Amino acid sequence: MSQVRVRFAPSPTGFFHIGSARTALFNWLYARHAGGTFVLRIEDTDKERNTDESLQVLLDGMRWMGMDWDEGPEVGGAYGPYFQSQRQPIYDEYLKKLQDAGRTYEKDGAIWFKLEGERYTEYDDFKKAEVEKVRAAPVVIDDAVRGRVERAEELDFVIVRKDGNPVFHFVNVVDDIAMGITHVIRGEDHLSNTSKHVELFNAFGVTPPVFAHIPLILKESGPGKMSKRDKGALIEEYETRGFLANAVRNYISLLGWNPKDEREKMEIDEIIELFDFPGINKGNSRFDEKKLSALNTEYLREMNVETFTFLARPILHTAGVIEEDA
Ligand code: GLU
Repeated sequence: MSQVRVRFAPSPTGFFHIGSARTALFNWLYARHAGGTFVLRIEDTDKERNTDESLQVLLDGMRWMGMDWDEGPEVGGAYGPYFQSQRQPIYDEYLKKLQDAGRTYEKDGAIWFKLEGERYTEYDDFKKAEVEKVRAAPVVIDDAVRGRVERAEELDFVIVRKDGNPVFHFVNVVDDIAMGITHVIRGEDHLSNTSKHVELFNAFGVTPPVFAHIPLILKESGPGKMSKRDKGALIEEYETRGFLANAVRNYISLLGWNPKDEREKMEIDEIIELFDFPGINKGNSRFDEKKLSALNTEYLREMNVETFTFLARPILHTAGVIEEDA
């Protein structure tokens, strides 16, 4: 096994959205390509939304698409627990490291992360108040997809809220360190968080992982990214509509990645062999249900009649066309 350790870190919401499935798939493909470890970490800090049911929707969706995880819920592993809600002692320990290094302070009941650099105050039109800013050295990210990205943070930020709960940036980075994550593959919507994350990695004295931010999936027509309300957005619907998991997985692998030739229908072993960061597009991809259906049809045509009959039976039964034991 190689040293590569990647993770899919969803916050379960009760839906397995095509965007999440794509992030999971790219992590899984990269782990399998590199002979590394695929970790599933549940970012369940939002207690209201993160129910057992939400978790099951996610695990079922992952399993349906054939994305097995090497460490995580129901399989365990040496870096657990794999639920953020169970990792408080680890967050306490890491918070202490930052406190001992003099990189935190308390203000208004919250704990803040202190940037390094010259401090000055500036009038903020939006807040209608003087705000303390920091001239921090810019963070340079060599993103494996986006290329070089540079950004300077200028405001200290909260890492533990008034109510005692650590914030996303803090727990995300602590877990990536504690779980030995080597590559962070996630949606482009997180690119703007990455400079904060790198500041935290540096404060812990840890070399940040390789970042690979993957472009958005746009909805079928019009501007904007796909949301869970858009037709075709939920993985669980493909299963009920009788799509083949292999076809759905093949289609999703092509949302933002391509093998640099015209091929679309590919066996999973081939995709694993060819999948790598240079093949990930910089531009956004657009969801196209016709293309997915066409690919699904190709898979169906190739299927032998026994398998086809076996899979068709429950669908025909549900539709009231045949008796259960016909
Ligand atoms: N829980 C975050 C999300 O679902 C994870 C972000 C990350 O992969 O770092 O967006």
